[in-house]
Amino acid sequence: MKLLEDRIREEGTVKPGDVLKVDAFLNHQCDVALFDKMGEEWARLFKGVRIDKILTIEASGIGIACIAARHFNNAPVVFAKKAQSINLDGEQYSTTIYSFTKQKEFPVIVGKRFLNEGEHVLIIDDFLANGNALNGLLEICESAGVIVEGFAIAVEKGFQGGGDALRQRGYRVESLANVRTMDATTGTIEFN
Ligand code: 5GP
Repeated sequence: MKLLEDRIREEGTVKPGDVLKVDAFLNHQCDVALFDKMGEEWARLFKGVRIDKILTIEASGIGIACIAARHFNNAPVVFAKKAQSINLDGEQYSTTIYSFTKQKEFPVIVGKRFLNEGEHVLIIDDFLANGNALNGLLEICESAGVIVEGFAIAVEKGFQGGGDALRQRGYRVESLANVRTMDATTGTIEFN
């Protein structure tokens, strides 16, 4: 999606350790008009596919998924939580994932009552790198017996391989910007 690629070129910064910083518009300050265009594009790409529910993970996925849901007939958005809390009651699906940016393991938890067997689910997230976060969500979807129709991703870092591994497993992955290479020294970013 040219709009997103242009924005990344203009305002994104490449940090050492293969980290792309896009906090001016995607995951700290949020450009809601851009999120709306992203939702519109995913709706075009997944046109004709039954989507009963959208699943994402806190925190950065939530805003993007909620705006995107407006383009999927206001499908309910469920977000996986990354910490236990007294507000989390009832039975839960949970797994553990390793965070690329935080460099530590943390739990991923979804209340069982929010994912029902046979529902068609679209998984949305801001970034896809090695695929750990999405694999955690997939594991929860498998336990719940829902049908994963695909992944709608804002920025895939293609060179880290997580997206292709999912595609090889037969999943549909639609990334609006797919970074082929990026260089922290020169600041150059190239897209697939
Ligand atoms: P993965 O689990 O696919 O390795 O990484 C995905 C998660 O890590 C995303 O949910 C995102 O929060 C974070 N992440 C991975 N790479 C980047 C990056 O380059 N920039 C930012 N801002 N977040 C990233």
